[in-house]
Amino acid sequence: MRTPVIAGNWKLYKTSGEAKGLIEALLPLIKDVKGVEVIVAPVFTILHRVGELIGGSRVKLSAQNCFWEEEGAFTGEVSPGMLLDAGCSHVIIGHSERRQYFAETDETVNRKTKAAIAAGLKAIVCVGETLEEREEGVMNDVLTRQVTKGLDGLTSLQAVIIAYEPVWAIGTGKTATEAQAQEAHRLIRTVISQKFGVDSSDKVRILYGGSVKPDNVKGLMSQPDIDGALVGGASLKPESFAAIVNFGK
Ligand code: PEP
Repeated sequence: MRTPVIAGNWKLYKTSGEAKGLIEALLPLIKDVKGVEVIVAPVFTILHRVGELIGGSRVKLSAQNCFWEEEGAFTGEVSPGMLLDAGCSHVIIGHSERRQYFAETDETVNRKTKAAIAAGLKAIVCVGETLEEREEGVMNDVLTRQVTKGLDGLTSLQAVIIAYEPVWAIGTGKTATEAQAQEAHRLIRTVISQKFGVDSSDKVRILYGGSVKPDNVKGLMSQPDIDGALVGGASLKPESFAAIVNFGK
């Protein structure tokens, strides 16, 4: 039995004041939900503050990125140990916006993932094909490569959550159909089972991301290989994020 995860990626939104309003409105709306892991991922500068706001609640704190070195002359970077120190339990790695705008590759994703896990964080590793890749028929190759290289060298997936986010569905309002998402999740689980064994592939949570909204989350979550959602836009409002967290009601 895989515990579902609903994670909100706040991207480059929310000042500390705005985060306070969001968290204070969100907590009462999700307090009765059972059996769902809830995560929020604010920008670096308010991690500590959001950690205080979520306090002893069920919500966990994630960063949106990290570097692979622990310290040194790397101006502008933040290390996994520093994220732990700021109160994070999770970090998102290799989001498609990082791959697209900040030149992240499967190799950097792999280095970051290994460093995050070594420091004691849980890594939410993002994979997903572009529209061009889907139309060219190379989706399976792309996902296989991203999963294989991104997780290369790991001996266990206990601290890994995968997020399948088709790039064409992120922030576009176009959600993958339930069948399209299930097909990709199934493929990812198969790749994981070949690389890490059936026990790991049975246990690893694979989240879907790409225009998840209150009105499509139920259908997506009904698919056997979809174990949760990585939510961008709809995580910025307490009502819509709470409705997604409450998908089982
Ligand atoms: C994301 O940021 O990971 C995402 C899936 O965004 P959105 O839900 O807005 O498509």
